[in-house]
Amino acid sequence: MERLQKVLAQANVASRRKAEELILEKKVKVNGKIVSELGFKVSRKDQIEVDGKPIEFAPLCYYLLNKPTGYLSTVSDDKKRRTILDLFEPEDKENRIYPVGRLDYDTAGLLLVTNDGELTKKLTHPTSEIAKQYLVRVKGIVIKDKIRKLREGVIIDDNYLAVPKEVQLMELDKKNQSTLIRIIITEGKNKQVRKMMEAIGHPVKNLTRDQYAFLNLEGVKRGTYRKLKLHEVKQLK
Ligand code: URA
Repeated sequence: MERLQKVLAQANVASRRKAEELILEKKVKVNGKIVSELGFKVSRKDQIEVDGKPIEFAPLCYYLLNKPTGYLSTVSDDKKRRTILDLFEPEDKENRIYPVGRLDYDTAGLLLVTNDGELTKKLTHPTSEIAKQYLVRVKGIVIKDKIRKLREGVIIDDNYLAVPKEVQLMELDKKNQSTLIRIIITEGKNKQVRKMMEAIGHPVKNLTRDQYAFLNLEGVKRGTYRKLKLHEVKQLK
């Protein structure tokens, strides 16, 4: 269920602000009844009319993007920096798509992009516990004891105990004094992996998400995307 004004905006009836005005002016009907309340929730099953004309819902779109670093996980930016929408073809972004959750500006990898509000809510809800796998290269040589500490959980954001689902030491690069670690987390706290690595004294050099739930980056080059297959969408729902 989504707010009526959001659904009207998504159906390209008007901007969110204008849609609110239309609702307050009693020009919008849901299932034959005028709705003048801005918080009113509707679903795709409801019949919605504006000025007596039925609206059509935008088709639901689902994409798997391999985000490069240097792009914001938003749909617009006041400072005119590049956003992930700049990576999409015009016809693929005309249905008001946005990212499911976020990857930092300096993080690369798998990001789902959709216009399905209900699925987004489900996937990003704290109880969803979707497994997200990252490959992270950190500064310095990480000793086994630190890996053990990481596995047991580290405190981030002053009082949150972040316990990863899996941690694997992948490669020690003595020449460049760095370590590659594979980590799976199920929460999505802001900058979580970076903070966890800082908590063991090894700041991140680079970070890539290579799996989200059962999805991976196979066949999707950095900076490109593909449509999710119907069975993948069903599995996520
Ligand atoms: N953890 C981070 O620190 N950054 C991301 O972009 C994703 C997970």
